[in-house]
Amino acid sequence: MEKRLLLDLSPEELAKELAARGQPSYRAEQIWDWVWRKLCLDFSAMTNLPLALREELSQRFFLDPFEVLARESDEEGTEKVLLALPDGASVEAVLIREEDRRTVCISTQVGCPVGCAFCATGQMGFVRNLSAGEIAAQVLYFARLLKAQGEHVTHVVVMGMGEPFLNYEATLKALNNLNDARGFGLGARRITVSTIGVVPGILRFAQEGRQYNLAISLHAPDDQLRGELVPLAARWPISQVLAAAEAYIAATARRVTFEYVLLRGVNDGLKHARALASLLRGKLAHVNLIPFNPAPGLPFERPDDGQIELFRRELLAQGIDVTVRRSKGVKIQAGCGQLRSRVLRGRCSSDEKSFEL
Ligand code: SAH
Ligand code: SF4
Repeated sequence: MEKRLLLDLSPEELAKELAARGQPSYRAEQIWDWVWRKLCLDFSAMTNLPLALREELSQRFFLDPFEVLARESDEEGTEKVLLALPDGASVEAVLIREEDRRTVCISTQVGCPVGCAFCATGQMGFVRNLSAGEIAAQVLYFARLLKAQGEHVTHVVVMGMGEPFLNYEATLKALNNLNDARGFGLGARRITVSTIGVVPGILRFAQEGRQYNLAISLHAPDDQLRGELVPLAARWPISQVLAAAEAYIAATARRVTFEYVLLRGVNDGLKHARALASLLRGKLAHVNLIPFNPAPGLPFERPDDGQIELFRRELLAQGIDVTVRRSKGVKIQAGCGQLRSRVLRGRCSSDEKSFEL
């Protein structure tokens, strides 16, 4: 019998599995506690379970889907790992240490079918969706690492490889499991999902009745320019993306973040800032500017700091709330896909200790 990843189960599914085996209901709670709160990786260490159950569990399930293929860290404590899955696919996850925040950036797909022109992941093509357990396990990996240092994960951002709303069920299940107070218990307001603008996903997300944060990658103020950067833009024009964002705001009363990658000479002009402002004025919205993060093979440049500042000020002057993602954030969010590309090209040497971002 093929073993299943236990992290793929919701609490209800785990309870059902155990009930079907004639186990009392508190067993599921005990197992959930070992896995999601104690972060245990070994069934035999679950000492409050009968030995026979521990053995049965280890024959039917596994707890760690990853083998670490590569690790990099920088002097600020940002750590990036490339994790291999049982079928040989691999994904990246990143831990960012920032003051008292410990943010984990996770992937939802191996590669990405959207293919944005400025994105290293987009250039790799699409391999497969991650399962709910494979998505959550990235957070648990760093949670264990932090636990050994007396720390814990404080935030999760779904901004790694892949488009979360093209793998909607698995992504939501992973987040709900991480959020579940009986186990990992990470607050919903500490979890942010970034989408390229998959309209049905945004509308569905609005109806979940959860407090997760939503970020929408806009990147251009008009459909023509957006279409050059984001191939999917032709399917869901900006007007539909903004209408979906409004529906999300109406349903949740939560502010939406619009991400905007700044590409020199492409979308970083003052006219773009003004057009962006007129799209967003009056909405419960916030703009996060992400200066382009260069990677081999990507045909763009990062604007200089002066231009970034002009763009920011123009948005502010137009009444739009705006922040610029600091370089640490750029390393995490935009860097996803880059470690994998480098390793697969055989260019990641063991003495390469810092990011080349
Ligand atoms: N697929 C989702 C989430 C992953 S990408 C999305 O696109 O929103 C997370 C963020 O990183 C997105 O805003 C994306 O536009 C940005 N990003 C991707 N490549 C980048 C690069 N080379 N430089 C800066 N930001 C980048
Ligand atoms: Fe996919 Fe997001 Fe990269 Fe676009 S930016 S290719 S949607 S991961």
